[in-house]
Amino acid sequence: MKQRKCQGCKQTKDADLMHKITREHKSGKIFLNPDSKILGRSAYVCKNKDCIKTMLKKKALKNALKSSELSEIEQELLKIIES
Ligand SMILES: [Zn+2]
Repeated sequence: MKQRKCQGCKQTKDADLMHKITREHKSGKIFLNPDSKILGRSAYVCKNKDCIKTMLKKKALKNALKSSELSEIEQELLKIIES
């Protein structure tokens, strides 16, 4: 199984248990990418509130994706936390 590092807790886990977030190669837009249909630089985070919060607080997603256009994906992740 694919193992990926969480951008929150920095532990390596099974990629299937994580949110995949991808900066699309062509457009530079950032998407949640659960079925890996979008090609580009990706980052992973555990599917729990603490890891998502930590990732957003530490700006880890920005560093991992080399993008500052994160406001939309951050809103989306915050919705996931709240739901
Ligand atoms: Zn984590």
